[in-house]
Amino acid sequence: SIKENEPERMPPPPAVKCRRKSVAPPEMHKGSKRLSCVAKPPDIQPKRGKFGEVYKANHKFSEMIQDFRETLEITPLSTNDQIEPHRICVCVRKRPFNKPEMNRKEIDVVSIPGKGVLLVHEPKQKVDLTKYLDNQVFHFDYSFNETATNDLVYKFTAKPLVQSIFEGGMATCFAYGQTGSGKTHTMGGDFIGKQQNNAKGIYALAAQDVFTHINHKRYANLELSVYVSFFEIYNGKVYDLLNKKTKLRVLEDERQQVQVVGLEEVYVSSSEEVIKLIQMGSSCRTSGQTSANTNSSRSHAILQIALRRSDRATSLHGKFSLVDLAGNERGTDVSSNDRGTLVETAEINRSLLALKECIRSLGMNSDHIPFRMSTLTKVLRDSFIGVKSRTCMIAMVSPGMTSCEYTMNTLRYADRVKELKGNSKANE
Ligand code: ADP
Ligand code: MG
Repeated sequence: SIKENEPERMPPPPAVKCRRKSVAPPEMHKGSKRLSCVAKPPDIQPKRGKFGEVYKANHKFSEMIQDFRETLEITPLSTNDQIEPHRICVCVRKRPFNKPEMNRKEIDVVSIPGKGVLLVHEPKQKVDLTKYLDNQVFHFDYSFNETATNDLVYKFTAKPLVQSIFEGGMATCFAYGQTGSGKTHTMGGDFIGKQQNNAKGIYALAAQDVFTHINHKRYANLELSVYVSFFEIYNGKVYDLLNKKTKLRVLEDERQQVQVVGLEEVYVSSSEEVIKLIQMGSSCRTSGQTSANTNSSRSHAILQIALRRSDRATSLHGKFSLVDLAGNERGTDVSSNDRGTLVETAEINRSLLALKECIRSLGMNSDHIPFRMSTLTKVLRDSFIGVKSRTCMIAMVSPGMTSCEYTMNTLRYADRVKELKGNSKANE
């Protein structure tokens, strides 16, 4: 168990050992000792003089992966597949290569053969310099390949949660992963160049469904109204994205009710209005930032859609929190000498660990929720309590070999969240 105020540090990527899963096909596994990974960490380009060598080595791996893929039976998730109800759902999405990656002839090390399965083909080298692939298998509730649209991802992840807020529950959907893996694309909407189509993200799709439900006769007599708030957590502080990034205080009363004091909560009567707010908040989030130094990769953005009984003063009925998390590589990067950056890193690390612990508590119906460990889990406290609460985590991965270590870290984290779900079943 984790002591409060004393966060355990995520181990740096290369030192981590993975709990091994069954690996298919078995012949690829024999004699494979875990040795150094030849994949270069992001940002380090091969040295010019060595480019030929790197190219040859990579070409070899590329062929090996190709050969391996030919042995796989591929049945991708389709829109007609069964949607299973999950209290805690953990999925993974692989994004396609972007132009620069294609130009660099990056190697795709991630395969998604079918429902819920994902393989990472980690390039390795034995002591005698023989190259081999360490093929590692992960199982999730759903796995989305690079051709999946936001619509498809939405259908299997956030959509099944919309109903639960009408039933009086709390729903939460997290986008987790390395910077550049597709969190904002998935939550906020497709990018067309630098322009984002906010109507095509999980935020907007969820809002649309909320308005479909509200008109349904089953819920009409509840007389519910919809309110939206949008804020970001940067370095443990809350900033209101619907109110010029005003810094807000988080207070907890004696009944452990957490409040973000002064947070704008805008009444909305259509999904178009929500999309306008998403646009406003998203531009507020990124304004004044250079791409090399985007705070947005170091902050968590949270869109909340709240259902209240018509009279606003009366109680909350249900709430959907949609969270675009900070880049998880930020939590492991301790290379900086800058104190500010290190404090930031520690805060991100703490919040992502706290999140995992809180989802574990939800899965085990535990009375003790370690929500005080971070601002993120404090403001989401409601999400981790009650039998009606439901959570979905979408782990995003980049396809390239240069992201291999970060991809493995993301998958291990998601795997642990999923593992907790198994525990909860055993304890019931
Ligand atoms: P993150 O928020 O995780 O840092 P972004 O969502 O900003 O990453 O994605 C980085 C880039 O990759 C963007 O240009 C985005 O359009 C592109 N991208 C991400 N996911 C996809 C996808 N599924 N399909 C096409 N392009 C994608
Ligand atoms: Mg982003």
